Amino acid sequence: MKPEKVFEFYRRLRDLEAAPETELKYINPYTLLVAVVLSAQATDVGVNKATGPLFAVVDTPEKMVALGEAKLKTYIKTIGLFNAKAKNVIALSKILVEEHGSQVPATREALEKLPGVGRKTANVVLNVAFGQHTIAVDTHIFRVGNRTGMAPGKNPLEVEERLEKVTPPEFKQHAHHWLILHGRYVCIARMPECWRCPVVDLCAYKPKMPAPQSEEAQRLKAKKKAAKKIAAKKPSKKRR
Ligand code: SF4
Repeated sequence: MKPEKVFEFYRRLRDLEAAPETELKYINPYTLLVAVVLSAQATDVGVNKATGPLFAVVDTPEKMVALGEAKLKTYIKTIGLFNAKAKNVIALSKILVEEHGSQVPATREALEKLPGVGRKTANVVLNVAFGQHTIAVDTHIFRVGNRTGMAPGKNPLEVEERLEKVTPPEFKQHAHHWLILHGRYVCIARMPECWRCPVVDLCAYKPKMPAPQSEEAQRLKAKKKAAKKIAAKKPSKKRR
């Protein structure tokens, strides 16, 4: 995608929402880190349901360590992979207390050393909690980057590096959220909603998805198809 098109792509997403925020609920950098760790292969809505009551009583690493793994599981048992996630959250909380003065570190190296924290989680925390211009590539951004031709890549790291390169500086702070929201609500995995897409003329994806038909049009189409099938089954008249 040409630089002018990339600029226009972001400009239109910015026009729709100037300063998008994460849909995960959090109170401080620590609760953000915990929420992001819990959100792996889970929906933000599901995580928020569990963390609402949890963060009402636990908002620091010390309190999490005091709560303990068994009790933590009772709060997060509705989230997928909760056993492994509970173990990681307790372990990373202990490290924060012992090695970082109970603060969330603001560097990728330190974050990625924490249990359950990979590159994507570190990027989200650096961007949301510390305002760094990182772009965390999740499944939505990976899809949007490839489909649109803006940042094609075989794996998340390739897409991330490409996005770093092509995203104009003025859009870097919010690029992550603009692309996630676009992928989550418009450029949907199963069927992209191209007919209502704000960047349809900039995107390389083909063929573009047309608007779904009305119920009446669908009914008529099904009727026509059924009539065709019946006609095909009827024996043709023999010649005399
Ligand atoms: S035109 Fe379709 S494929 Fe391209 S970004 Fe929009 S929704 Fe996605």
